[in-house]
Amino acid sequence: MKHTKIVATLGPASSNKDIQRAMIKSGANVFRLNFSHGEHAWHRQMINQIRELSEELVLPIAILGDLQGPRIRTEVNFPIDLKKDFMVKVSDLSHRKAFSAEDQIVYIDTPGILENLQEGHRLLIEDGLMQVVVTKVHKGFVDAQAKNDGTIKNRKGIILPDTPITLPILSDKDKADLQFMIDEGVNYIGLSFVGSAQDVETVRHMIEQYLDGKGKPPLLCSKIERDIAIKNLASIVTASDAVMVARGDLGIEMPESEVVILQKEIIAESLRQMRPVIVATQMMQSMVGNPRPTRAEVSDVSNAVIDHADAVMLSEESAAGKYPVETVATMCEIIEKTEESRFDDLYQALDLNLKNEYAVVIRSVYELAQSYKAKAILLLSMSGFTARLISHFRPDAALSVATNDKRTWQELALVWGIEATLFDGDKNLNTLMARFTDKLKGEGRLSSGDQVVVFSGRT
Ligand code: PEP
Repeated sequence: MKHTKIVATLGPASSNKDIQRAMIKSGANVFRLNFSHGEHAWHRQMINQIRELSEELVLPIAILGDLQGPRIRTEVNFPIDLKKDFMVKVSDLSHRKAFSAEDQIVYIDTPGILENLQEGHRLLIEDGLMQVVVTKVHKGFVDAQAKNDGTIKNRKGIILPDTPITLPILSDKDKADLQFMIDEGVNYIGLSFVGSAQDVETVRHMIEQYLDGKGKPPLLCSKIERDIAIKNLASIVTASDAVMVARGDLGIEMPESEVVILQKEIIAESLRQMRPVIVATQMMQSMVGNPRPTRAEVSDVSNAVIDHADAVMLSEESAAGKYPVETVATMCEIIEKTEESRFDDLYQALDLNLKNEYAVVIRSVYELAQSYKAKAILLLSMSGFTARLISHFRPDAALSVATNDKRTWQELALVWGIEATLFDGDKNLNTLMARFTDKLKGEGRLSSGDQVVVFSGRT
């Protein structure tokens, strides 16, 4: 049983139910739906399939719906080939009438940004593949110089690391996607391009208003991918329910050479604040086309486990690669081997924020289990809060959680080390614990005489 969880993004390569079943059996715990692609009908079909598979296999699977977020894109009349040092004009769509269809010009699709461009500002297009720098500001457009050879294509993402941008956290598309996700009972919502704690609060408030007291709100997973998010890291983590190290965009806004250190900082802050944290992007990238990963990728996954991440994520590898099932299986094997090693020895490394009185109680549950080398910690957790807290101590004992809340059962699939069992509808804590121990014994996970620590959460 691995402790570090696997998040696998679904896409054309993995939309088939049999493939998804094989991915779950190979170690996938969470499926991510990327709302930058696909229609609602497709996402709905994926959600239904996952829920059916979860029932069929009696395994909790969480669904993470990832919002596209306020992405700025190019609009061009035709692809523009540039050589290093060549010049190009940049404007925005509100000025389109001032130019002709033959003009070689890059439009920014979002109004209000052109006015903030100044000499020296960088435009990083298509994941930074093409970089142009503003050399002169004119009325209604700017001149920019190419920093490398390349082609500027239509509808490609633009990152402007030097330009002040004040876009709302959710676009109109995001708002429609958010309502869809709430209606479909998605467990986690990925918030792209979060800049501040206020962004997270804004979305939380929208969800509360939409739900109007009916139903459990989804948990909010902030994607840390902007320079400003690094500056506001502590307060963003406080405002969020979970965190993602979104290394793709982060490595465009920040120097690539800093990404590994930032990954460690983000994980450390998330652990300190007891928030589940996912490491994402290009972990097994070469398996998009190859049946085996590179040594560097194996090392990347291993190191994320040693960094104490709750989960590691697959994007293109599982969504559009040739080997979605094999990639999950290989990742699972790397996790298991790393967790068996002495380098995945965590507790000394953790610096938890124990100002919270309840966290101190949970710490004593952890200490008790460690001192007596308990085989398992058996927890009753209804909202999942107690389970998340104990997980953050990374105990050696197995972490078996019983809950009577289906959403909690699903949500805990993302959290390090938790094996959750659902006792639907059972409200009586005593009978629930008795049924739980019987079940664990029946599955051979516990035997008479094993030392266990039993704790019933308040929440
Ligand atoms: C990332 O940028 O690393 C990321 C996970 O976000 P997305 O895949 O939405 O670009």
